[in-house]
Amino acid sequence: MASTPRVFSGIQPSGELHIGNYLGAVKNWVRLQDGYECIFSIVDLHAITQAYDPSELAQRTRDMAVGLLAAGIDPARSILFVQSHVAEHTELGWILTTVTPLGELERQTAFKEKAQRLESVPAGLLNYPVLQAADVLLYLATLVPVGEDQVQHLELMREIARRWNHRFGAGFFPEPQPQLTTAKRVLGLDGQAKMSKSLGNTIGLLESPEAIWEKLRPAATDPARKTRKDPGNPDICNIFTIHQGFSPPPIQAEVAVKCRTAAWGCLDCKRVLADHMIAELTPIRERAVDLVAKPATVRAALRAGAERARAIARTTMAEVRRRMGFLGAAGD
Ligand code: SF4
Repeated sequence: MASTPRVFSGIQPSGELHIGNYLGAVKNWVRLQDGYECIFSIVDLHAITQAYDPSELAQRTRDMAVGLLAAGIDPARSILFVQSHVAEHTELGWILTTVTPLGELERQTAFKEKAQRLESVPAGLLNYPVLQAADVLLYLATLVPVGEDQVQHLELMREIARRWNHRFGAGFFPEPQPQLTTAKRVLGLDGQAKMSKSLGNTIGLLESPEAIWEKLRPAATDPARKTRKDPGNPDICNIFTIHQGFSPPPIQAEVAVKCRTAAWGCLDCKRVLADHMIAELTPIRERAVDLVAKPATVRAALRAGAERARAIARTTMAEVRRRMGFLGAAGD
């Protein structure tokens, strides 16, 4: 068992990071590296549970790796790898399906939401949380950074660990604990739906200062502020949520007061936000440009990450196979 608590977290290869997944997950990951042994995975095997274009998957995976490295995931301190490069994820995933109750999978809110939009539901969508459990348990990780919407999956993961342990080896898999991220969920620029590339309501992490301002300027605010004289409510304004991710606390306090008293207009408020965003994102963009120019560096980082991940995964799987009685697993 590792002396420093081990964290596992994954992100789908959706291509370039946007400020929603940066503030919701990746910024927290960068901080976690200071206190924990971190394993971060680009979870391409999860991504294929939904319709996707095979000709884009590799590039989206590379782009995500560039974004993560540029944002501050340090491959010298953390393990960063692509999920499909470590075959043990699928092996443990299959094994865990044999102790997972079907009813629990069918009850998962995320599954129900996705399934109702599909005519034919692939079993992979149902088993998605089992693969998530395998991702974490493979590394005997004890902490999983999650948002509120992922708590149900984590509960199921703990249940799967308990069931396997009960059948094959008391206490072998630790029951992972949630590390709830404090970041509020950033909505898209339309202020309606979740920020998502497919909805075209994002600001990319690597966008130029001009592009950031062009997108921020028309973004939705508190609809009560019809004119500059109308006071607003920062608590229901998505722009304020983004301020909370990028602007220092004294600025956030000033924004709230000026909003409630109509001491400034939304455009003034957005300009201050744009300045803080640009200050934080410019060095990230510069690192990304550098990494894109050196694809061999990115490839080498992912290869080394997969090797380190595989070494841990192999040790876990050897023990899993031995405890489950597979021929050859105990040297027989
Ligand atoms: S002043 Fe800022 S926080 Fe208030 S409604 Fe406008 S954009 Fe939102």
